[in-house]
Parts: sequence; structure tokens; C-alpha cells
Amino acid sequence: AKSAGKGQMVTYSVELDAERQVVATLTEEMRSGLINDEFEVFYQGIFNSRTQTYSGVEALLRWTRRPAGALSPSVFIPVAEQSGLIHELGLFVLRRAISDWVDYPDVYVSVNISPSQFSDFAFETNVLSILEQMDFPAERLELEVTEGYLIDRPERAKAAIETFQSAGVRMVLDDFGTGFTSIAYLQAYGFNKIKLDKSLIDDLVTSKKSAVLVQGVMFLANGLAMEITAEGVETEGQAKLLELAGCRLMQGYLYSKPAPAAEMKAQLSQTPSA
Ligand code: C2E
Ligand code: CA
Ligand code: CA
Ligand code: CA
Repeated sequence: AKSAGKGQMVTYSVELDAERQVVATLTEEMRSGLINDEFEVFYQGIFNSRTQTYSGVEALLRWTRRPAGALSPSVFIPVAEQSGLIHELGLFVLRRAISDWVDYPDVYVSVNISPSQFSDFAFETNVLSILEQMDFPAERLELEVTEGYLIDRPERAKAAIETFQSAGVRMVLDDFGTGFTSIAYLQAYGFNKIKLDKSLIDDLVTSKKSAVLVQGVMFLANGLAMEITAEGVETEGQAKLLELAGCRLMQGYLYSKPAPAAEMKAQLSQTPSA
């Protein structure tokens, strides 16, 4: 008779094989999807409550697999990271976002970068030469990275941040509040901006603890001259509390949902100063 231990091992390797299979299949589909124009970049406005206009847009990748239909980036991005296709996919998003917004000088463009994209030592050079080729000012680009990027390869992270910043590109820490890093540490790293994670915003109105936390973060960030964007703002109540705490940059369904470039551009022209 088979021992329990052995049985477990068999199951485990079968699961691993199945996972490898899924990664391989989806990667092939993504590769052909890139060729067949199945990928699209949507944009979500980042609203400035002081000027009452959109200061920027965040690029969010969308994939409509044919014939299967839409798949969420939180599913296919990790797969692309595992297979290495993220390098190509990431530069696709960057190029598309830049060409979509190059003629909108008052709007900055924020692009998500996977930690694994930095394993390519040509990453910074690639990004900066795309900016140059497409005549897009570095000052209009923001790169959003998560904490995983700092933890995995701190030296590499620091070097990349320095390169981007001396070129004028702003660095943003995404999903702040879900990990362990302190604001002072982020500032020492040279981040320009922090995005407060949706989970902090979600219970802002109902939990005193969240409200105090957000106020504390705002206070520190102001003292350190770092900008803050609140993400996942869905209600007026949340927006009011954030404004009281001194937060100006707001992102969430309350203001705008991710949409194709043309739709986001139409929304821009409806705001007072555009
Ligand atoms: P993220 O960077 O934290 O992006 C915010 C996510 O929250 C987006 O989901 C956005 O559609 C959603 N969201 C924004 N406002 C609200 C709101 O008010 N309520 C709710 N419920 N959701 C809101 P999305 O587009 O599905 O993207 C999921 C994640 O996939 C992103 O999280 C990001 O980590 C990743 N991702 C998307 N596009 C790219 C990309 O081009 N490159 C990389 N590396 N990652 C990407
Ligand atoms: Ca983001
Ligand atoms: Ca985020
Ligand atoms: Ca996230």
C-alpha cells in the first residue's frame, strides 16, 4: 500500500505539472494575442480635487482572449511574469500608453511595472529610449512598482530608481498599506509618490483605525514632501475624509472607471480646465 507521504508527493507533482501546462498554454495564447491585437490598454483618470481636473491616467492592461473572452490582469500578469513574456507585454503597454497620450501635455501617464521586469538590465535603457523615440517628456511618465520589488533585489531597485529619477521619470510605490515598509524608508529610496491601497480606503468611513492610519500617512508624507494618491475611492464619504486629511489625488469608480483611450479623453474635455 502507498504511504500517505508518497501519495501527497504524487499529487504535488501532478499539480506542478498541471500548473506548468497552464502557464505554457496561456503564454502561447498571449503571444498570439499580441500579434492578433487582442490586447488593449484602458485608462483610469487620476482626479485632482484641488484643480477639479484629471492630473493623470493609469494604464491598465486588458486582454480579450479569442474565442474564450476577457481574462483579468490579476490572472494573466502573474502568468506572464512566470514565463518571461512580461518583458514584451510591459513594453507593449508603455508604447501604447505613450502614443495614446503624447498629444495631451497636461496629463501624466502612470504605468504598472512588475518587479520581474527589472531582471532585464536593459529595462531602464529601453524605457528611456522609447521616451526619446516617441518624443514624450520623461516628466510626464510615472512608474508604479510594488514592495516586492524592493525586497527581492534592493540594490537593483535603488540603481533603477536613481536612473529613472535623474532622467525625470517619477517613481510611485503602489499598494501602500498592504506590506511592511515605512514612509521614511520609501523616501530614502527616492520614491516621489505613494498610492494608498484600496483596502485602507475601503473601511475609511467605518473604521476609526483606518481613518487614523490614513491621517498619519498623510501627515508624514506631507512632511517628507511626497505625494499621495488614494486608490479605490468609491464614495463621497471616503473622498471627504481623504480631502480633510490633505489628500488631493483621487482614483476610483467615484471619479472614473478604466476605459478605452477615446472614452477617457472625452471625460477629460468635460472637466472645467480642459
Ligand atoms: P493595481 O495597479 O492596484 O490597479 C488598481 C486596480 O483596481 C485595477 O484593477 C482597477 O481597475 C481597480 N480599481 C480602480 N478603482 C477601483 C474602485 O473604485 N473600485 C474597485 N473595486 N476597483 C477599482 P485591474 O485593472 O483589474 O488590474 C488589476 C491589477 O493588475 C493591477 O492592480 C495591477 O497590479 C495589474 N496590472 C494591470 N495592468 C497592468 C500592466 O500593464 N502591467 C502590470 N505589470 N500589471 C498590471
Ligand atoms: Ca497600479
Ligand atoms: Ca494599486
Ligand atoms: Ca494591486
